[in-house]
Amino acid sequence: MRRFAGLAPVGPPPGAGEAYGAAHTSSDRAAIGQDTLLARVLSGETLTDLEAGLESPTGVRRTMVASGQRLVSRAGALLGAIVVWRDITAQKELEAHGSLTSPRDPLTGLLTGELFADRVRRALGRASRRSRPIAVLAINLDHFSHLSSRLGPAAGEQVLVEVGRRLTDTLRSRDGVSGPLGTAARLGGDQFLLLGEDVADDAAAATLALRVHTALRLPMRIGGTPLSVTAGIGVALTADPAKAPAALILEAQTAMRVAKREGGDRYQRFAAEMEAQLQSRVDNGEALRQALERGEFRVVYQPKVSLSTDAITGVEALLRWHHPTRGPIPPLDFIPIAEETGLIIPIGRWVMEQVCRDAQRWSAVLPGGRPLAVAVNVSPRQFEPGLAETFSAIMARAGTDPASMCLEVTESVLMRDAELAVTTLHKLKSIGVRISLDDFGTGFSSLAYLTRFPLDEIKIDKSFVDGLGTDPEATAIVAAVMGMAHALEFHVVAEGVETAAQLAQLRTLGCDEGQGYYFARPTTADAISSLLTTRPSAAPGRAPAVTDVAPQRLSSGRVLVVDDAADVRGLARSSLTAVGFDVQEAGSGEEALTLARQFGPDCVVLDVNLPGVSGLEVCRLLRADPAHEALTIVMLSGDADPAEKVQAFSYRADDYMVKPFSPRDLVSRVRASMRRRAEVPAPTPR
Ligand code: C2E
Ligand code: MG
Ligand code: MG
Repeated sequence: MRRFAGLAPVGPPPGAGEAYGAAHTSSDRAAIGQDTLLARVLSGETLTDLEAGLESPTGVRRTMVASGQRLVSRAGALLGAIVVWRDITAQKELEAHGSLTSPRDPLTGLLTGELFADRVRRALGRASRRSRPIAVLAINLDHFSHLSSRLGPAAGEQVLVEVGRRLTDTLRSRDGVSGPLGTAARLGGDQFLLLGEDVADDAAAATLALRVHTALRLPMRIGGTPLSVTAGIGVALTADPAKAPAALILEAQTAMRVAKREGGDRYQRFAAEMEAQLQSRVDNGEALRQALERGEFRVVYQPKVSLSTDAITGVEALLRWHHPTRGPIPPLDFIPIAEETGLIIPIGRWVMEQVCRDAQRWSAVLPGGRPLAVAVNVSPRQFEPGLAETFSAIMARAGTDPASMCLEVTESVLMRDAELAVTTLHKLKSIGVRISLDDFGTGFSSLAYLTRFPLDEIKIDKSFVDGLGTDPEATAIVAAVMGMAHALEFHVVAEGVETAAQLAQLRTLGCDEGQGYYFARPTTADAISSLLTTRPSAAPGRAPAVTDVAPQRLSSGRVLVVDDAADVRGLARSSLTAVGFDVQEAGSGEEALTLARQFGPDCVVLDVNLPGVSGLEVCRLLRADPAHEALTIVMLSGDADPAEKVQAFSYRADDYMVKPFSPRDLVSRVRASMRRRAEVPAPTPR
C-alpha cells in the first residue's frame, strides 16, 4: 500500500489530478474537490478515512483514503494541517470482485494474475477512448530451473525478486509507454506479465520489449555470485475494447512460447498463425508421447571407422520413429518437438536403455567379450541436473562399461550455459563416459574456447567434409581444425564422408576416424553384430573399408615411437592410438632413452637410422637395462639390409619392419610382437 503524507496546505498526492465521484467516510458521503478538502481540515474538521476516487493526468484511476487534522500551537494559533493519503485501489478491486486471494505476489510484491487481468480490462476501456493501444508482455526466464538448482532455491527467489524489481522499473521510465505503477505481475515460478498502456504502435511495443530485455540482461549479484538472466518475451498489442483480457494474455504467452522455442533471449510479436503452429506442435507432442508408450521408436547404428587401420572403432546410435500411418519420420523432424515438450528426457533415457541392451549383445560376439564403443546423442534439453546419475544407473543395471560409452553433445550445450555444461560434463566424465563434440564448426565456438570443457573428441560437421578437395576454403578449415584439435589432444572424427576423394583428403590431413555413407549407412543392431563377426567380401557400392573390416579390437599399453621423420612418427602415432595404445614420440636416440625411463613403454617402435645415437645402439642399451626386461622392440628400417636385420635380432629386437608401412601392418606387427614377448617366461629372480 502506498502512503502519501503532506503538510498543509494539502492537496492530493503526486500524480493524482482531479478528484472524481464522491468522497465519503463510512458514515458520511460528500462530493470533494481539492480545495474543499483542505478547507474542511483547516476549518477544524478531523477526517478519518475519507475515501476519494482520483484520476491522474494520464487517466489512471485510484481509490484513496485521506485522514487529516489541524495543527495548532500550544498557544492555540493555527499552524496548518496534516493529511495522510492511503492508496486502497487494490483492496477496493478485491472487494469489488469478491476475491479472497491476495492481490500481491508475496515474493515479489507484484500483482497476481487475477488482478492483472482486471487491470488489462480497465486499460482496454481507456485504450479505446484514447485510441492508444495497450501491450501485454509475457516474460519467461531462460533456464531458470537450472539456475535455481545450481544456486539453491533461496538464491532463485532472490533472482525472481530482482527480476520483479527491474520489470517495475521498466514501467517507471516512460519512453513511448505511460504505464501506471504496479502493472507487472508474477503468475508463479518464473512467469511474469507486464502491461504497458499508451503503446502507440508495434515500434513502441518493440521498444518496451527491448527495454525489458536489456533490463534483465544487466548483471546482478546474488549471494556474491555475479550472474545475468535472459528471457523469452512475447508481445500482444490491441486497442479493441471487446478483446477479452484472458485472450490478450494468452496471445502474449503464445508469442513467448515461440520466442522460447527459438532458443529464448529474444522477444516475439504475436501473429495469428502462431496458434495453428503451436497447436500442430501440441498434436505432434501428444503423438510423440504415445510413440514412446507404444514402442514406435527404434535405434539404428552407423559405424565409425579408423582411418589408419580401417577397423570399426565404434558406432553412433541414431534414433528412428516408425509412425504407424505416416511411416518413418526422420529425427530432425521430431527431435526439436521432443526437446520443446521435454519428452526428449524420457526418450533419451529409452535410447540409453536400448543402446545398453544392444551393446551387451555385441560384446557377446566380439573377441574376448570386449565392448564396442557406442556414441549416443544428447540434446541440450537433456542437460538437467541428475543426467549423469540417470545414465550411470541405466548402464549399471545393464552391466555396460561406461568407458565404452561416448556422449555426443553439440556446441549449443556449451554456449547456452557454460557453467552448467562444465559441471554436467565433469559429472559425466566422472562416471567414466567419453564426451564428443558433434557438428563442430556450425556453432561458432573456437577450439580455444572448447578447452574449458572436458571433451575427448571433435566431430567435424558434414558441411566441411562436403567441400573437401573441391572447396579450398572448406579444405583449409578442416586442415586447420585438424592441426589445432590434435595439438589440443582431441581425437578427430569426420562426419558424413561420402566419397573416396574425401576419405583420401582426410587421411592426408591426419584425421583419426570417419563416419558416413561411404563406409556404411546407419543399420540395425543385428546387422552390426554380423558386421563384427563376419568379413564379407566387398559388395558393390560399398566401400572396401568396412566390408573388409577387421573386428574391432582395442589394445592397451604404452608405445614409444622413435623416428627422426615427423610424418613417420605422426602416422605411427595415429595408427596406434586409433586402436587404443597410449603413444609417445621421440625424434632422436637420446630422447628415446630418456623417455623410455620416464614414460615406461611396453613397446618401442624404433627407427634404425637415427642421427646421433643410432637405433641399433638404443636397442642394445635398452636390452642391457634390467628395468626394460619385458619391453617389446620393433625396429623400423628405411631399406631392407640383411646385415642390419641380423644385427637387430642379435640385439634381441622382437621384429624388424621395412618402411613405408601401412597402418594396419604396423598395428598387427606391434600387437603380435607384444603377444609373443608376453609369452616369454619372466626371468627368475636370483
Ligand atoms: P548427428 O548426430 O550429427 O548424426 C549424423 C547424421 O548424419 C545422421 O542423421 C546420419 O544418418 C547422417 N549421416 C551420416 N553419414 C552421412 C552421409 O554420408 N551423408 C549424409 N547425407 N548424411 C549422413 P540422422 O540419423 O537423420 O540424425 C540427425 C540428427 O538427429 C543427428 O545428427 C542428431 O543430432 C539427432 N539425433 C539422432 N538420434 C538422436 C538421439 O537419440 N537423441 C538425440 N538427442 N538426438 C538424436
Ligand atoms: Mg551425433
Ligand atoms: Mg553430427
